Amino acid sequence: MTPLAEKLVARIRTNGPMTVAEYMAACLGDPEYGYYMRREPFGRDGDFVTAPEVSQMFGELIGAWTMLAWEAMGAPSPFVLAELGPGRGTLMADLLRAARVRPAFGAAARIHLVETSPRLRDRQRTTLADVGTPVTWCQGIDDLPSGALLVIANEFFDALPVHQFVRAADGWAERMVGADDDGGLTFGLRPADGPVSAVDSAPPPEGAVVETSPAASAIVAALAGRIARDGGAGLFIDYGYEGPAFGDTLQAVRQHGYDAPLAVPGDADLTAHVDFGALSESARDAGAAVRPLMTQAAFLLRMGLAERASQLGRGKDRKTQETITAAVNRLCGPDEMGTLFKVMAIAQPGLALAVFDGDDSGG
Ligand code: SAH
Repeated sequence: MTPLAEKLVARIRTNGPMTVAEYMAACLGDPEYGYYMRREPFGRDGDFVTAPEVSQMFGELIGAWTMLAWEAMGAPSPFVLAELGPGRGTLMADLLRAARVRPAFGAAARIHLVETSPRLRDRQRTTLADVGTPVTWCQGIDDLPSGALLVIANEFFDALPVHQFVRAADGWAERMVGADDDGGLTFGLRPADGPVSAVDSAPPPEGAVVETSPAASAIVAALAGRIARDGGAGLFIDYGYEGPAFGDTLQAVRQHGYDAPLAVPGDADLTAHVDFGALSESARDAGAAVRPLMTQAAFLLRMGLAERASQLGRGKDRKTQETITAAVNRLCGPDEMGTLFKVMAIAQPGLALAVFDGDDSGG
């Protein structure tokens, strides 16, 4: 039993069962025992490896994309360059290093990192100590200054809480987390009011699960509204699907393997796949233009991953070259991150976006 499990069982005994969304928020963000508050999740010795930690090429290519978007906007100065959930700060460091080819970009960028974890903020401060540009930390997107905005996020939306609804014989029920007689956590159901998603229109099979993330939708809607009004673009990368769709995607990951979601609250990462269909709708409703979803492999290859890889490996020893090839496979392989991970781009109406709007775009 983890300390957070004990804390949550006590809370449930007083207040009754909690939604899966409340449970997820506590697992990741509880100020005392939340996963991101206490653990070092990233890398081989951590629990999982993210794309910026696989290779510097990931952040560099996102940097190139961001610079092209900035130029298409007419190179506004200043502008807000924001990242949501920057982890160790690796992506931003690689992005800014790649951006040195256009010093005006770095000079115009007001870097803002949206991060709730104090220990990861420290980590980001160390990583970004020598980028030569001041960095500001924000607790949420509402703290971002106004003006033109370029915003990126990798594996951020999968950490935002989801509600789960289960189709019962007589309608939808919301999945809840309660406490059993032995003091452990257990799943239960309570009747849910009203239809919960667009999949509701087709008669769903009994037992079907639908996930919604009002928290993720609200963040995308707020960013999209700003971008439509003040100008800018956003690039959101995550593993996910284009809903509405059925499926229970809640997963707990620890030491590169899966745990049951209720097994070790606070000690495992807890995520859900991102419904990019729902996020696209939120962005569109808020006035931003949304591009068709692209796979991570398509995005990176069209941004020039293969060329960058051979440039990096040229003249290097065999071991270095093999490491670079392995990174390309990890980022783009269909059984690795290439297809499960998707790239969603939003922009002010009329803005041309590299890769999404070029002659070779599509799919
Ligand atoms: N982008 C990084 C890290 C992904 S992990 C990478 O690709 O390596 C998720 C990140 O989001 C962590 O930095 C975590 O602390 C942060 N995070 C999670 N929930 C958050 C929230 N509600 N608001 C801000 N940051 C959050």
